[in-house]
Amino acid sequence: MKLANKIALVTGAAQGIGKGIAEVFAAEGANVILNDIAAPGKMEPLAQSIRKQGRRVLSVQADASNREQVEAMFERSWKELGPVDILVNNAGIETIVPFLEMTDKQWVDVTNINLKSGWLCSQVFCRRVVAEKRQGAIVNLGSIQSGKVLPGRTHYAPSKLAIEALTRNMSAEVTPLGIRVNCIHPGLIETPMTDWVMKSPEILPQVLAQISMGRAGQPNEVASVAAFLASDEARYVTGQSIFVDGGWVGK
Ligand code: NAD
Repeated sequence: MKLANKIALVTGAAQGIGKGIAEVFAAEGANVILNDIAAPGKMEPLAQSIRKQGRRVLSVQADASNREQVEAMFERSWKELGPVDILVNNAGIETIVPFLEMTDKQWVDVTNINLKSGWLCSQVFCRRVVAEKRQGAIVNLGSIQSGKVLPGRTHYAPSKLAIEALTRNMSAEVTPLGIRVNCIHPGLIETPMTDWVMKSPEILPQVLAQISMGRAGQPNEVASVAAFLASDEARYVTGQSIFVDGGWVGK
């Protein structure tokens, strides 16, 4: 198992890719902290199924873009589960708004949750890991949209492209201190976020025609790459961003 006895915190773990990452990490031997802004009840079935595999689990409701809540979440994680080894910055939202109509609030909401949360959770995590002279790994979730224009995303796409720069820049500062930082850019992955695409008889075929594999990906297909990046198998990999998109951005 790639992540035996590690402790991993996954933000936005109640559904979709975050849930898939928590499941695969647990299968690879990790104990998991499930974070989401959603009520903890939403994470309970996942927590129970992970517990049944013999792993320890903690569910923490918190806004990953709020410093007070993030600091309290890491404090609780350290106390109840132990020192966290792996952070996955997965929480994110996507809205679709024409550029000329976008409001300040729409810009700030997307930027805060997609970009600031990754920076903030990473800073709180890294400060603790460095203070304890431990080692760590961070996996950030970017997007296909860091390399591809989709309409109505003049807030979302920059927030995701910036994750790539955040990954490189954090890596330059914290890798010498023992923490690797990498990023995954998912393509079209079947989750509640993309439900409207998967159910659209007009849009879905247009998108699939652009993907070399001709299909959407599943959360566990992103999760297996996250597990690799978080594991010792990727011990000489840092500051990198990898597209997990079935061959979309390169086609
Ligand atoms: P999703 O909407 O299905 O799930 C996202 C989860 O994040 C939800 O459970 C939500 O409650 C949680 N969340 C939102 N704001 C939060 C906050 N402030 N604090 C904590 N949790 C919060 O989305 P998904 O499809 O699973 O996407 C996961 C990540 O992958 C996102 O960052 C998304 O932008 C990115 N991504 C997804 C796709 C895709 O095709 N699904 C493609 C590219 C990138």
